[in-house]
Amino acid sequence: MSIMLHGIGVARGIALGKAYLMEHGQPDIAEYTVPEYLVDTEIERYNSALDGARDQLIELRAKVPAGVPGEVTDFIDAHLLMLEDNAISRAPVKLIRRQYCNAEWALKQQRDTLVQVFEEMEDPYLRTRKDDIDHVINRIMQLLLQQENDTQELLEPEEDENNRIIVADNLSASDILLFHQQSVAGIITEHGAPNSHSAILARSLHIPTVMGAGNSHRYLQDGESLILDGNNGMILINSDPLTITHYQSLQQQQRDHQESLNKLRSQAAVTRDNITISLQANVELPGEIEIMQQAGCRDIGLYRTEFLFLNRKTLPTEEEQYENYRATVEMINGATLTIRTLDIGTDKPIPAIAEMEGADNPALGVRAIRLSLKNLDLLIPQIRAILRASAHGKIRMMVPMVTSLQEIVQIQNHIQEQKRHLDSNNVSYDPELKVGAMIETPAAALSADGFAQCLDFLSIGTNDLAQYTLAIDRTDDQVNYLFDPLHPAVLRLIHMVIKAGSHNNIPVSLCGELAGDERYTRLLLGMGLREFSMSPSALPEVKQAVLNTRLDMAKPLTEQLLATPFHDEILHLFEQLNRSSPDHS
Ligand code: PEP
Ligand code: MG
Repeated sequence: MSIMLHGIGVARGIALGKAYLMEHGQPDIAEYTVPEYLVDTEIERYNSALDGARDQLIELRAKVPAGVPGEVTDFIDAHLLMLEDNAISRAPVKLIRRQYCNAEWALKQQRDTLVQVFEEMEDPYLRTRKDDIDHVINRIMQLLLQQENDTQELLEPEEDENNRIIVADNLSASDILLFHQQSVAGIITEHGAPNSHSAILARSLHIPTVMGAGNSHRYLQDGESLILDGNNGMILINSDPLTITHYQSLQQQQRDHQESLNKLRSQAAVTRDNITISLQANVELPGEIEIMQQAGCRDIGLYRTEFLFLNRKTLPTEEEQYENYRATVEMINGATLTIRTLDIGTDKPIPAIAEMEGADNPALGVRAIRLSLKNLDLLIPQIRAILRASAHGKIRMMVPMVTSLQEIVQIQNHIQEQKRHLDSNNVSYDPELKVGAMIETPAAALSADGFAQCLDFLSIGTNDLAQYTLAIDRTDDQVNYLFDPLHPAVLRLIHMVIKAGSHNNIPVSLCGELAGDERYTRLLLGMGLREFSMSPSALPEVKQAVLNTRLDMAKPLTEQLLATPFHDEILHLFEQLNRSSPDHS
């Protein structure tokens, strides 16, 4: 008999495959085999993580202040001794050599063996030493996970990895990137919400995903056959052949539908009453540029630069960033590339940045522009790379999560200073480089007129704007039910920003997930929005919605909708707006 689990479908699509359970509470690690010629490289990786762990402990020991009880140093010494034990220093190496497994996987296997040995011990004291083993192994594991992993990049996914459906507690954006590299078929998480960066990434990468499927670990077993329906947030376990055939044909229908929408590729996004709308793409990874171009889109309205910083131990250099921005702007042949400066924080932490650690409330902490202004090692190379790349195409620079004009003044000062440096070294850049900001906090939206006077353009980040306005953590599935883009507060703030832009004659775009949801296209058009930036996969549906809209019909209904504070009435008007046919005025 087949069983069904429910969650929130955060990335559309249907996946048929086998459950692959990530362990609870353990760092999620990729498990793969390495070809024989890379075995020595993998062993070197393991040994260097081992050396790193030893260095860390020695440093820790040296820093123990005088007068601290001897047990503390004894404890560190015990960990150092464990590192030298064959069970940790040699056994994983043997596993890599014998099984061709990656270093993380070998260490995990060895950990499982050791934990079992300790758990079977009669002596309660010895049993508690299991925690020490865990600490030591986790230290090595963290170092392995932070390493730039050349072996993994060289590997093609194994054939049967393509039908893996990952089942995890929760996943970060970095994890999703890793799974994308392994071409997994789908993702299920017990926690997580549709506006988290992980969900956005899964959508962009077209990985059918269901989040918030609580207790999946209880009901699912490794290797079980699953059907994952990302459209409806459903997971079917061990389905009968009839159901499988049904979903296979649904999968095909969706592919056909996507292909038929792709026929709109060469058509401009123009409303029925002839207003041209700019549809731009949000790009998370360079690979998406091809998809956006296939959908007929030219401009990048949001280039999320975080991918350059994730899954690595060191920060990207100015040169590396410059090469990337330059290659990207050249790839889009004269169209506009809007580069967002680093937006690290919450579910996108990076190991190289210490400020990220231990914040009680990361969404309200040192995130995005705050982090860049506090940490000039991040900001200055990025500004310089953007400026230098601007000599090769149309580039705009955009700063995330601003709350006060003071931040804009600081950014502009840094830009001016770097321009002077480049001038004195005869390095070219676009002297007219446009600088804008993402309006994604209520503070910025309520003072959008000020931002509009000081900047060249604004872009509304509704994912964060809704989070901060409605006081709901965008990564927390427990409060996801409160997420409501039709909340009058959210709508009015969006409207304020659009009006501030038009009063000050600067362009305003919207690059939150709302822009890519065709149910909101008419409403946003009615509010006066003329630039939308979205995941490339959403472009065809939104273009279709633009083509089906008459602004002269959408505007009066939208005005009525914005005027009422009552949710029922808003919902009623919203449905009416979407129902109205552009062919009947
Ligand atoms: C937003 O907040 O709406 C946005 C586009 O930025 P991000 O999702 O990357 O925080
Ligand atoms: Mg944001």
